[in-house]
Amino acid sequence: MYGYKCEYCDGTVREKILKQEVFKHRTGFVILENVPVGVCDECGHRYYHASLLHRVEEIATGKKPYTRQESVPVAAFAQ
Ligand SMILES: [Zn+2]
Repeated sequence: MYGYKCEYCDGTVREKILKQEVFKHRTGFVILENVPVGVCDECGHRYYHASLLHRVEEIATGKKPYTRQESVPVAAFAQ
């Protein structure tokens, strides 16, 4: 799924399974669990395979059922 060269440096994009990752969608946010994302081993830039974004789209538009709903706390960062 990954293993290609980073677009931003000379690093290699390696697959990393994240317990949770938040994806923004035009209808809101979708959290995927145990999701294989690509992470550059040099600069840490994250890459999302098209199949992840496709899954986010399916869940956000109701084509695929989701496991549970969580409310996400939101706050402005101000000192
Ligand atoms: Zn990189």
